Amino acid sequence: MTTSNPKISALIVAGGTGERFGSARPKQYLPLLGKPVLCWSLEVFQQHPLISDVLVVINPLHTELLQHAAPQAKFVIGGSSRQDSVRLGLAALKSSPPDFVLIHDAARPLISADTITALCEAAISGTSAIPAIAVTDTVRRKENNMTRTENREGLYTVQTPQAFSYNLVTSLHEKYIDAAFTDDAALCEAEGYPVQLVTGQPDNIKITHAGDIARAEQFLFARCGDVRTGQGYDVHRLVPPASPDRKLYLCGIAIPHDMVLEGHSDADVGLHAITDAVLAAICNADIGRHFSPKDDRWKGADSSRFLRHAADLVTKQGGLITHVDVTLICEAPKIDPHREAMRARIAEILCLPLNRISVKATTTEGLGFTGRREGIAAQSVVTVRLPFGRDEP
Ligand code: MG
Repeated sequence: MTTSNPKISALIVAGGTGERFGSARPKQYLPLLGKPVLCWSLEVFQQHPLISDVLVVINPLHTELLQHAAPQAKFVIGGSSRQDSVRLGLAALKSSPPDFVLIHDAARPLISADTITALCEAAISGTSAIPAIAVTDTVRRKENNMTRTENREGLYTVQTPQAFSYNLVTSLHEKYIDAAFTDDAALCEAEGYPVQLVTGQPDNIKITHAGDIARAEQFLFARCGDVRTGQGYDVHRLVPPASPDRKLYLCGIAIPHDMVLEGHSDADVGLHAITDAVLAAICNADIGRHFSPKDDRWKGADSSRFLRHAADLVTKQGGLITHVDVTLICEAPKIDPHREAMRARIAEILCLPLNRISVKATTTEGLGFTGRREGIAAQSVVTVRLPFGRDEP
């Protein structure tokens, strides 16, 4: 080991099926304001200057979910319990072993770079380290229908990530292969190795129950107090299809119709209006500036990539898209039968829950170009939250 520049790996344990959470999709893959729960902590580790590499330990049933959520992430298949998954993850690092390893639960998305720094520094200084928060509430213990107050002096609640010497924690996991511990620091404790406490984050919550996604959203909102609104408007002309495989696209959905929208890309007027509204909220020009209609790369392009690009620009500023509203203005096709599919597709592109996406439609009572069925118009309003004190683009 070179103490001046030690190698530190991060292991993110994401093997859980989330039985206590009660959703069809495991909680670590649920949308949390722009990215899946897992990706929030994954990206903090990947971008941290002291972390050399990040390995995700997943459930064998979740390969597709992981590859969809984080296609670039390195992963290994875990075991039947958290402890087993950690042991298998540590074993997977053996071919190029780090000096230290930080073991983190994917269900804690809000880990900060500062906490990771404090843990790395503590580990480098020679002891295992865990983030902990002193208990300030009065604690009572229930026994035989009676409760009594416990002395809370010296009591802490403990979070992840937890930092260890790689060799030490790997040997402990091999030794205690058949025992069941609730965290990795407990293995150190069993052998009498010291564990240092570093100050934990009150917002480093563990997503356990359904209401915890809303709690995580509140903490993210607290980081992004600068609320912005952007508006977008777009029109494309309706024309007969040049070939039978040319489809009419609205809000990411192919709609059966005798006419299609004309344009350089797939001409999805709905996604274009939303993209412009996102760009407007961060004062970053318009869709034509980012994706020139003269550029052959965008010929026939799926407009979801335009919207994704605009959303990525929000993320780069540490911002969040929190609400999308789009209105489609046309006499035909009928929008209502496709509304839920459109909402689901926009939600998927932006990684937002459905209850933050509104799609509606209106006619112009036969008046104007939309009334004469010459084209379809769309307008959108998008709400974005940004952190205060960021560098302006
Ligand atoms: Mg357009």
